[in-house]
Amino acid sequence: MRFDLQSMIPEHISELTPYSSARSEFEGSGSVFLDANELPDAFPGMPPGVNRYPGKEPQEFREKLSAVKEVEQDSILLGNGSDEIIDLIMRCFCRPGKDQVMVFPPTFGIYAVRARVNNLEVIPVNLDEKFQINPDEALKSATPDTRLMFVCHPNNPTGNVQTKETIIRLLENFNGIVVVDEAYIDFCPEKSLLPLLSDYPNLVVLQTFSKALGLAGARIGAAYASREIIEVMRKITFPYNLGTPAIRLAEKALDSYAIYRMNVKRIVDSREYLAGVIRELPLTETVYPSDANFLLVKTRKTDDLYNHLARNGIIVRNRSREPGCSGCLRITVGTAEENRRLLDAWDAYDPATREKGDTAATALAGQAETAGQIKRNDTGSQTEVRQATVRRQTSETDITLRINLEGSGYADIRTGIPFFDHMLEQIARHGMMDLEVDASGDLEVDPHHTIEDTAISLGRALREALGDKKGIERYGFELPMDESRARVLTDLGGRSYLKWDVPLSGAQIGTVPAPLFKHFFRSFSESAACNLHIEASGEDDHHMIEAVFKAFARALKMAVARNNTDAMPSTKGML
Ligand SMILES: *Cc1c(COP(=O)(O)O)cnc(C)c1O
Repeated sequence: MRFDLQSMIPEHISELTPYSSARSEFEGSGSVFLDANELPDAFPGMPPGVNRYPGKEPQEFREKLSAVKEVEQDSILLGNGSDEIIDLIMRCFCRPGKDQVMVFPPTFGIYAVRARVNNLEVIPVNLDEKFQINPDEALKSATPDTRLMFVCHPNNPTGNVQTKETIIRLLENFNGIVVVDEAYIDFCPEKSLLPLLSDYPNLVVLQTFSKALGLAGARIGAAYASREIIEVMRKITFPYNLGTPAIRLAEKALDSYAIYRMNVKRIVDSREYLAGVIRELPLTETVYPSDANFLLVKTRKTDDLYNHLARNGIIVRNRSREPGCSGCLRITVGTAEENRRLLDAWDAYDPATREKGDTAATALAGQAETAGQIKRNDTGSQTEVRQATVRRQTSETDITLRINLEGSGYADIRTGIPFFDHMLEQIARHGMMDLEVDASGDLEVDPHHTIEDTAISLGRALREALGDKKGIERYGFELPMDESRARVLTDLGGRSYLKWDVPLSGAQIGTVPAPLFKHFFRSFSESAACNLHIEASGEDDHHMIEAVFKAFARALKMAVARNNTDAMPSTKGML
């Protein structure tokens, strides 16, 4: 079979002259725009430029996206969410009342709904018991009027991907267009089919800013396909389908790669942790493997459990009426606190659970240390989470650092200096705080800037997370490590001072020049505005420094712990 795009374009579309907007008719550079009946000025306080219609195509944004995705600009179409693009593809390539689209249930419901809106017949070919497409059955069920196949990869609500071989079989043997919806591909980027674009003229890949890029409210999706397919779709898009503020937000998201990567890693780590705990809960039958940011869980008494969770304010998706999903809930991975609340509520469902010694609580306690994700915290549950994210860019470094003082020791550290990473991990683990650091610096020169700027960012983030410092204390900690010992005293009261008495004998530890450790703590004490006294003794430099970082973490942990009053203790009495 051969794919022939021209034969797929209904006559009324191929004959269409697209609407010509004011902004698309004028070429060149004007300075007085009296062509689009806009208000000449934006209202006060509005983003600049919103009084104007967006240009025909948000050029800069497309350039950025094209560079990030390594796809030619001509092969990208932006939409008001991928929902709009799903509908657009149907209107572009299907004759209403005549053509069909194929879907693979259980899958994303929008495909079938938009098909019906466009008066197209839906051909469902159910996934097998492992939620895989049977390509033979799919191809056999296609008729000459079947124009589109919608492959959701990873699939919503099952969370799994299709094999590349299956999708290639469809691409090579189906006469129509195969739309691969990669809404969740950020959670398994290596499985994206974008690299196949140049080989298959009948492939359309959909992606979205709504999931891993955190912009569900901004409504931005993208289609990637051959230039020819994109050209046809562009013909029928609304002239200004993306708002200027949405485009700005999407650009900003693309520029925040470190945050994006941290988020994805944290969600994936949480997902695996959550899967492990849910597997042990009494009503659970199966937790299906997931490549997305949600879990499909088969349970007993599903409707009861769903209602029980809802009564506790926890809303999950009941998918038990979908084909192949009987008894299944779809659960989005949330923040550590949200996940904990889900588990607590679930745990409270069945009295038998508690009789067995609080299965969930035991499982949580057992796994919290290794996964470092979800802390069962009976005292902190009602209080606000103290966290901060700092991005600091200089000519030598670009640092993104996130700290959560109510964390549980979760660390995701990348500075490019392995020994330094290891020390920062100690701060997270022994400080029982979550610490994520993405630092890129001029390591080809030396580690100086990276270490200094990480310290400054850490100090700044700590200050920001502490806010008005209510409820924190001043503390110190002493810790032995083999023959070495370290003592760290700290006062987060707002004065910076470093006293350093750590007699390192060597020139470097790991790849880090020894003097940089003092420098790290000095930079930290300055930016965190804290008093730090650090003393250590021992024979082994490595042990001494590791003990220093651990003691520092413990001292911080004590210093930031909330007490029950609203004030910070002071030598002058309560502040
Ligand atoms: C969430 C989701 C989308 C995203 O739609 P937007 O309109 O871009 O928000 C697309 N496809 C699937 C399968 C989804 O689950």
